[in-house]
Amino acid sequence: MAGGARSIDRVNDGLRVAVVGSGPAGFYAAGALLAGGAEVDMLERLPTPWGLVRLGVAPDHPKIKSVSRAFEKIAAQEGFRFLGNVEVGRDIEHDELLELYDAVVYAVGAQTDRRMGIPGEDLPGSSPATEFVAWYNGHPDFQHLQFDLSGKRAVVIGNGNVAVDVARMLALTKEELDPTDTTEPAIEAIANSGIEEIVMVGRRGPAQAAFTTPELIELGELAGADVVVDAADLEGAEPKDTNSERNLEVLREYAQRVPTGKPRRIVLRFFRSPTAILGDDRVTGIELVRNVLDEDERAVPTGETETLDCSVVFRSVGYRGVALPGVPFDESRGTIPNEGGRVGDGVYVAGWIKRGPTGVIGTNKKDATETVELLLADLNDAPRRGRTFDDVEALLREKNVKHVLYEGWTAIDERERTAGEPLGRPRVKLCTWEELLEAAGVAAERNPT
Ligand code: NAP
Repeated sequence: MAGGARSIDRVNDGLRVAVVGSGPAGFYAAGALLAGGAEVDMLERLPTPWGLVRLGVAPDHPKIKSVSRAFEKIAAQEGFRFLGNVEVGRDIEHDELLELYDAVVYAVGAQTDRRMGIPGEDLPGSSPATEFVAWYNGHPDFQHLQFDLSGKRAVVIGNGNVAVDVARMLALTKEELDPTDTTEPAIEAIANSGIEEIVMVGRRGPAQAAFTTPELIELGELAGADVVVDAADLEGAEPKDTNSERNLEVLREYAQRVPTGKPRRIVLRFFRSPTAILGDDRVTGIELVRNVLDEDERAVPTGETETLDCSVVFRSVGYRGVALPGVPFDESRGTIPNEGGRVGDGVYVAGWIKRGPTGVIGTNKKDATETVELLLADLNDAPRRGRTFDDVEALLREKNVKHVLYEGWTAIDERERTAGEPLGRPRVKLCTWEELLEAAGVAAERNPT
């Protein structure tokens, strides 16, 4: 191993590490730390674990969500503790973590959306995809949102897998939504929406699209929506890699399809960038400019514009990390500056806050393992702080923080699954802080953010 990093299967006695964030990167880091003999306290601002696996992965993708079983096995290991409802920077400070633990691993993901910087971006009816995704997945901070889906056309900006998720979710029928854990208000809103056409807009060509082929194939298999592709957009497209080659094959087949008259259509458009979102009080349309690609495959606007009427726009142009008080932050990249996961002074990072918002869930395993190997090598011979979990609990008590232990989460989990059973759903999610904390056996005394 490079740089004398020790193997993570050796015992690292007495090492206590705080992992902040309970998504895939946090759990893979915890797994590697436990394997290395460390104790792990996982701090999470929500009362529930799994991060984007619970609140980001589309509810009609239960297979992807089932990765949580691997996380459950990590959580069951000796030396692991879950501390939900504890927000770093609000309930406990970064400096306090450094006092209480030998090291801190931030695996907090990328909690906000990238901006496009065009007029009308904040008009009512224009939303970041991140908010829509959090809403239909039952994130307790996003349930107050309302999405007016009464209009005929929705536009989704972006050509990544999140854009595909949003376009597909908007097109699902009640029969497709019913067996999922989509929230009831979202099922109602989507199933009864007036939307007839969902236009997904990519600024570059079909060969440059970021979405992956299995996700693209799903768009062609929907019960209630036809998929439409203009063959002209595919002319001269040169595949860049295997994914792009497979995508092009699927897109060519779509371009030959004749719409079968399903109630909705998903239209994939390429070489178009939004230049303005139009409307006075709320979205009524979007202006798009036609792009060509330069020699580096960057989108260059031609000046030729068109206007599309639409009532909602979902901006799905990538996530962005958020700075933590007291922790260094690279504003341009939206990440915590690090080398291989090491930030310095006992601070480490894993996942999207380390490398940016790219890759699939499994990518985080290698990413987190790299970080933990460095951490264990760094701290192998370092003196331990000698603090215990009692010290952590004492501080939380002093600050009146009502933390949710793993048993609190399993109580939530059981309540949700039980509610889902008679409906043939995997679960009916508890979607408010009050319900979640009550089910976890914690009094909801504090006003959530
Ligand atoms: P992404 O894959 O990085 O896609 C972002 C898209 O936004 C790209 O098409 C990008 O185009 C476009 N874009 C960026 N800035 C733009 C602008 N100013 N105007 C117009 N378009 C713009 O990100 P994501 O979709 O948010 O997904 C994040 C990660 O999660 C990805 O790695 C994704 O694969 C993963 N994910 C996976 C699944 C799954 O496996 N089912 C589901 C959801 C998410 P350019 O290419 O031109 O920059």
